[in-house]
Amino acid sequence: MACPDLEDKVVLISGSSRGIGRAAAIQFAESGARVVVSARSKLACEETCEHIHAMGGQAIPVVADVTELGQIEDLVLTTVKEFGGLDVAFNNAGFLNTATRCDELSEADWDKVINTNLKSVWALMKYEIPELKKRGGGAIVNTSSVAGIGAAPGYSTYAASKAGIIALSKSVALEVADSGIRVNAICPGLVQTEMLESMDPAIQQIIDNGIPLQRRGTAEEVASLAVWLSSDESAYVTGQSLQIDGGACP
Ligand code: NDP
Repeated sequence: MACPDLEDKVVLISGSSRGIGRAAAIQFAESGARVVVSARSKLACEETCEHIHAMGGQAIPVVADVTELGQIEDLVLTTVKEFGGLDVAFNNAGFLNTATRCDELSEADWDKVINTNLKSVWALMKYEIPELKKRGGGAIVNTSSVAGIGAAPGYSTYAASKAGIIALSKSVALEVADSGIRVNAICPGLVQTEMLESMDPAIQQIIDNGIPLQRRGTAEEVASLAVWLSSDESAYVTGQSLQIDGGACP
């Protein structure tokens, strides 16, 4: 897959050490972009970059915990220092808590989910938007979930965090449209990644049974949507939340 308009674009991807973010880092690099691979795991970020270098692409690893505002600021500053600016942000880092009923959830669990999944997206955009403005525009893609659209019993906090990303993305899209910046959210259904290891197999089975296309999505399929939303192919798309779920959440 090649998106010519991403040639030499600078792309920052949070949560790109594995799963959907890693697949996206590879696809962005295949499209000619220069990629900042970021997560908490230094080794895994380096491994993703080595894979990209081996295929002739450009990528650097930058370790950052998206729950730490200072580390997010440093992540964006390092991106600009190393690659000269920022054109695209794929704010994708996230995690799924173990299933817990709302009345049994601790405040610490609530804070961890909301801070990792939702507050991080605000914080990343806070530092990314000024850099995108300096380039005369760009694209932001935020990873939500179909859990943010429908019900997710046992995962109410996760669902709330992902619904928040949709609302945040739509509002910010209108704030920055006149700066040439597009902001969209993507809402994957069940995608086969390590994240599912923390999901009850019985719940996975229920979700599997409700997928009209009769299979889970792949990280590569979700990555393709993120790349498309970041390219000029989608130049007239902003303020949207796009589902990629095999028809599971019509
Ligand atoms: P993975 O668990 O495979 O990857 C998660 C990524 O986020 C890793 O790179 C991880 O790296 C990083 N990450 C987690 N916490 C932090 C943190 N505090 N700071 C920085 N990076 C962090 O999951 P997926 O690829 O499946 O998930 C990617 C996104 O897609 C998430 O936002 C998830 O909620 C969403 N999603 C996934 C679905 C699925 O079925 N898989 C469905 C719908 C949405 P590290 O641990 O090294 O920090």
